[in-house]
Amino acid sequence: LSPIHVIGGGLAGSEAAWQIAQAGVPVVIHEMRGVPGVKTDAHHTDGLAELVCSNSFRSDDWEHNAVGLLHAEMRALGSIIMASGDVNQVPAGGALAVDREAFSRTVTDRLHAHPLVTVVREEIAGLPPEEWDSVIVASGPLTSPALAEAILSLSGEEALSFFDAIAPIVHADSIDFDIAWRQSRYDKEGPGGDAAAYVNCPMDKAQYEAFIDALLDGPKAEFKEWENVPYFDGCLPIEVMAERGRETLRHGPMKPVGLTNPRDPLVKSYAIVQLRQDNALGTLFNMVGFQTKLKHGAQAEVFRMIPGLQNAQFARLGGLHRNTYLNSPQLLDRQLRMKAMPRLRFAGQVTGVEGYVESAATGLLAGRLAAAERLGKPLDAPAAHTAIGALVEHITGGHLTGSKFQPMNINYGLLPPLDAPKIDEAGVKIPLKERGRAKKRLMSLRALRELEAWRGAA
Ligand code: FAD
Repeated sequence: LSPIHVIGGGLAGSEAAWQIAQAGVPVVIHEMRGVPGVKTDAHHTDGLAELVCSNSFRSDDWEHNAVGLLHAEMRALGSIIMASGDVNQVPAGGALAVDREAFSRTVTDRLHAHPLVTVVREEIAGLPPEEWDSVIVASGPLTSPALAEAILSLSGEEALSFFDAIAPIVHADSIDFDIAWRQSRYDKEGPGGDAAAYVNCPMDKAQYEAFIDALLDGPKAEFKEWENVPYFDGCLPIEVMAERGRETLRHGPMKPVGLTNPRDPLVKSYAIVQLRQDNALGTLFNMVGFQTKLKHGAQAEVFRMIPGLQNAQFARLGGLHRNTYLNSPQLLDRQLRMKAMPRLRFAGQVTGVEGYVESAATGLLAGRLAAAERLGKPLDAPAAHTAIGALVEHITGGHLTGSKFQPMNINYGLLPPLDAPKIDEAGVKIPLKERGRAKKRLMSLRALRELEAWRGAA
């Protein structure tokens, strides 16, 4: 068998290579770190699967947390990232946190020791050679410029999306519709052709002033050297707008015009925060124009000051950093192959997933899909009822037509919904406030059943 080539030995590339080798197919990892003078702006070592920032894989609760479910699915599929995380755990409550150096060393050693894995330290500075008939590009958010440009020219896109700021995303079922209402500005059609596509949260003057104070006083993330990117016009963080004048937001993303509060039609709101549907299922809404560099810890507190969002649960918080990713819904098929050049598969953050675990999960799938293809037994991606399948669905088509594709952590809003159960397995009534939790457990059980069936059929 000729080898499959993996570009990038990060979270996704290491996992992809492991899955390929475990399937009995030879694999070559091409990693540029380790070449003298070649580096990224965030990595500090030559180790494979280096964690560039936090040391946490987040919650390990598979029953009630979507990333915990992703852990469980990956463990079931023999993930090297999860196995290496598990043996290098550090105490972190319900989260899976790891000793980052020991973790990277374990992954590196296990890959080097595998007889079917070769690691070459080199930068792939353009399209991979034509004789490489199966390639997984897992070069991450800091893909080297030469490779990024080559992919760009191939994709026919104007630019690889340059991700400078993100706005928070809220779970729809945590919005208080006794306060918020649905209406598009001037009743114009929103994304999806819906004239009531937006959710509106009204503020009076006192609420607005208190909110501006909280924004100005809240702790902000500091820029590191690698974050030295200019702000894009029309994409300024809200705190930067507020610093320019207390009224700026009221004339920008929080302008109250063209909207009527059905509960108080004669009273004009002083300011209005709008949320826009974010996924095809309608389970997630993003806060329009609310890109922010408030520290994550402060965001939930400040944004819960917005009437209607007082109990908001966030599927993703806002942030500001450099991030190169593909417009995957346009460019990739459900096999994660580039439609314009199917010998190239993509995995990791570059596909538009967000996070260590999500990156590794897409690497796992890309590795399995590529190995199956090489072995002449092509495989479909698992159904969207699984966390891994839901991620693939998000990056290859689950977002709303007409909306800008944005990276996403795994969350239950990406999986097809279930009605919250009213009684438990023993027939006992579940109290109202516990039903959301019970629903997550049912969705997790459904996902693991589905994954097992997929694994069995593979
Ligand atoms: P990476 O892990 O970055 O791996 C890509 C690899 O490809 C790198 O080793 C790179 O050297 C190599 N490479 C690039 N170009 C080439 C080339 N042309 N030839 C050969 N090799 C190449 N996620 C979290 O869950 N928690 C966090 O705390 C977190 N912090 C982050 C901080 C920063 C600064 C950034 C940029 C991202 C952060 N992320 C975080 C997001 C994401 O989870 C990580 O970036 C994650 O490492 C992505 O995995 P990956 O495999 O896609 O890319």
